[in-house]
Amino acid sequence: MRKTVLITGGSRGIGRVTAMRLLLDGYSVAFTYANSSEAASRFEAEAGNPLLADGPRVAAFQGDVRDPVRNEQIAAEVMERFGSIDALVNNAGIRRDALMYDMTNDSWREVMETNLDGAFSMTRAALPMMMRQRSGAIVNVASLSGLHGVVGQTNYSAAKGGLIAMTRSLAREVARSGIRVNCVAPGLVETEMTGDLSAEVKKELLRSIPMRRTITPDEVAAAIAFLISDDAGGITGQVLCVDGGASA
Ligand code: NAP
Repeated sequence: MRKTVLITGGSRGIGRVTAMRLLLDGYSVAFTYANSSEAASRFEAEAGNPLLADGPRVAAFQGDVRDPVRNEQIAAEVMERFGSIDALVNNAGIRRDALMYDMTNDSWREVMETNLDGAFSMTRAALPMMMRQRSGAIVNVASLSGLHGVVGQTNYSAAKGGLIAMTRSLAREVARSGIRVNCVAPGLVETEMTGDLSAEVKKELLRSIPMRRTITPDEVAAAIAFLISDDAGGITGQVLCVDGGASA
């Protein structure tokens, strides 16, 4: 039977490119989004692409990842529609940068609730299905900011660092149930999330990347696809940096 992957935040950016990559790799893909209903419907329609000849294998689910009740509903709906959840990609994320003395409680909480709490509650929602089938792969999309300090990102760094720590503990908890849990940690990727960075800031960031270039969403998607696949069967609790050498 075809395997099913659930991806949070699949309407745009890295999540969307990963969803397409996984469809082409032969998975069925369920993805969530918060606001981009038009982009989500367009992407669902693209499943009619001749490359994906054997019918629609993609389904979009509206839901704010910060809502644990909705996450439970989505996991149940994906089970009903596809029959299994074989892999989960916790990708939905936001940044709300500010220096600490200027950071509001709201922007701290919003970043923690989206990047960390959301990954927790979606994982908890999908885990019982994986435990029952005694197999599964979870990939959490962290960030270089979760490993290294970044000025203006205390909230984002804390959330992504927490996600990495959660990954390691959960990997130990569920290894004997046949479930692997890993992270990818992208460096600077050109998506809408980083679209607000000025040319000056980008130039400065590029200087800190040994490859002197940004990472493409396809390169992150390839790392996620690898970690989900049986080729990564012996790998759990790890952080795979896709950052042009910035963490080396
Ligand atoms: P993006 O282009 O801004 O896309 C973000 C995705 O997350 C969208 O699909 C969005 O849905 C979804 N999302 C945001 N808040 C949500 C919520 N509350 N509930 C459900 N979905 C929500 O961002 P991206 O660059 O692809 O980033 C994807 C992941 O990679 C994030 O976790 C980010 O932290 C991480 N990352 C990105 C970079 C980078 O340089 N871009 C670097 C390191 C790590 P809507 O379209 O409905 O808003």
